Amino acid sequence: MNSVLQHDLNDFENILEKAKQQGIDFLNNLENIPTSNKKSIDYSRKLNELGLGSLAVLEEFNERLAPLMVASPGPRYWGFVTGGSTPASILGDWLTSIYDQNTQAVKAQGGNSALIEFETINLLLELLGLPKSFLGGFVTGATMSNFTCLGVARQWFGKQFGKDFAKNGISETINIFSATPHSSSIKTLSMLGIGSQNYTAIKTIEGNREAIDIVDLEKNIEALNGNPFILISSAGTVNTADFDDFRVISKLKEKYDFWWHIDAAFGGFAAVSDKYKHLVKGWEGADSITIDCHKWLNVPYESAFYLVKEKHTALQIETFQNSNAPYLGNPLENFNYLNVLPENSRRLRALPVWFSLLAYGKEGFRNIVENNIALALHFGNALIEEELFELLAPIRLNNVCFSLRGDHNQEKVFQFLTSLNDTGKVFMTPTIYQGRKGIRASFVNWRTSENDIKIVIEEMKTVFAEI
Ligand SMILES: *Cc1c(COP(=O)(O)O)cnc(C)c1O
Repeated sequence: MNSVLQHDLNDFENILEKAKQQGIDFLNNLENIPTSNKKSIDYSRKLNELGLGSLAVLEEFNERLAPLMVASPGPRYWGFVTGGSTPASILGDWLTSIYDQNTQAVKAQGGNSALIEFETINLLLELLGLPKSFLGGFVTGATMSNFTCLGVARQWFGKQFGKDFAKNGISETINIFSATPHSSSIKTLSMLGIGSQNYTAIKTIEGNREAIDIVDLEKNIEALNGNPFILISSAGTVNTADFDDFRVISKLKEKYDFWWHIDAAFGGFAAVSDKYKHLVKGWEGADSITIDCHKWLNVPYESAFYLVKEKHTALQIETFQNSNAPYLGNPLENFNYLNVLPENSRRLRALPVWFSLLAYGKEGFRNIVENNIALALHFGNALIEEELFELLAPIRLNNVCFSLRGDHNQEKVFQFLTSLNDTGKVFMTPTIYQGRKGIRASFVNWRTSENDIKIVIEEMKTVFAEI
């Protein structure tokens, strides 16, 4: 063994101890670490011939790279839809690296870690009140989950014409309907060879809504004269957390032949709350669902899962099968994750979720979700009270979409946001909503409290006075 490696091996306990201490220092100090910084590095560093050993590299990391880190897992990072990581999720994440399993098959390749993934998916179905008729698996994020689900949808579409798109390529025009698809679904259409422009934008409900207008949807369906289509619907749009009406869409499933996909990346967690689960009522009728764990479940990146109805497993295998290697066996007989999703080798991504679910239970996640929604409403009210701001949309869940008050302030909105973000006290993201420049604050982090809102409102007043 190389002598530096040998030295590291002998010093393993000390190395991990240092990582633990550094982790505690960072996480216990999150409140004081800026949510943004302008630090940079000269990334032209040359690779050394001789290894430095882990501890010397840790020193270099702390000196050069650690200053780049921002408090994105902290309580006042409200940009995009960004969760943090709970203690149990970090425990599970560390152990995922330590055990370093390649999670693929059941009863093959010398291990059964895929059973942990099965168990975790079942626990998630229970948390979300979804039936066992869904099978699921873990991918890196909601983008890859949308890719997985819509990949199967594409195969389903071909089958309606007796074609196997996975084998022979796309030979028919695929009809896709959506009202307010997330940008990652559009990207998925590009990655799947369908084409990012090749979907029909259905109208949204009139008024201040992003949800699909069912009358316009049905008009478009009728125009297909019985031809199949794929519907991409939203359980939580990123600007205003609006939801399509799943009860009505379920009824449409009885009348028309279509693949129904729901992007519920963060909004799916409405299901854990008695107060908000009406928003997803009827979603169990979908063919596929996307849900992120690195958002509202507050586990570290990269974690999301797809759910596809078990009755579509054969289509899913046709889409993703990797079975031309004889040692992998027959994909229909021997379940192997590498035949049902994009990745082949994959870490035991379920473990941080498994630890989180058992550690905090249904009540823990109900509390996180309800607390975040209450904070969104609280922040919205505080904004209105200040009279400097106005809401661009009602607060339906955990996202607050607002702007500086009045048309005369429109040209100042992004300048205000940049100055606010530069304080490092809070981070929010810009948006354009119904033609107006706006700002989004998304409440997803388990640590956020009322005191954070007080801090942010004060900061916003100061920055507004300065621009
Ligand atoms: C965040 C998000 C995505 C993309 O998720 P990643 O985890 O970043 O890949 C897709 N859809 C919705 C609704 C989202 O909020």
